Amino acid sequence: MAVLKIRFDGDPILRQKATKISRIDESIRKLADDMWETMMAEHGVGLAAPQIGLSRRLIVIHLPEGYEYEDDPEFNFKLANPEIIKSFGEQTGQEGCLSIPGWVGDVPRAESVTVKAIDMNGRPVRIKATGHLAVVFQHEIDHLDGILYTDRVVDKTTLLRVRDEEPAEVEA
Ligand code: ZN
Repeated sequence: MAVLKIRFDGDPILRQKATKISRIDESIRKLADDMWETMMAEHGVGLAAPQIGLSRRLIVIHLPEGYEYEDDPEFNFKLANPEIIKSFGEQTGQEGCLSIPGWVGDVPRAESVTVKAIDMNGRPVRIKATGHLAVVFQHEIDHLDGILYTDRVVDKTTLLRVRDEEPAEVEA
């Protein structure tokens, strides 16, 4: 596995609509593994392929145990072609992005989402996510459509500059 270089805001690849993955093969699994290692090295909870310079619909997510609530299990996903097929409710929380280091902002999101995707064995999966996990899914799927969280902050004055050692609630 390898840690890949993160692309930053201003790089045109972050504004492209990523293309679907037609088949899960060794190269896609290796890419997902490298994205995983990159996400862990950068202390993110999610990463989308455009963030490492590949305009493909592939995301990885890792929420450690107890991330939002004490009894939350660990959540780990490597998914191709994720798509929100249902969303419900509202929540607003602080987000940061590995592609926009040093900033956080309050972003309105759905409280829960149902996501349809393909796993790394090529099997279709459906995931129901709420709270922070739902935010990460929405943040990552936005990346696949060329959308950054800063496009969604209600009020740009809520964007704050932070030091690296103070990550946002959801840094992805
Ligand atoms: Zn991001």
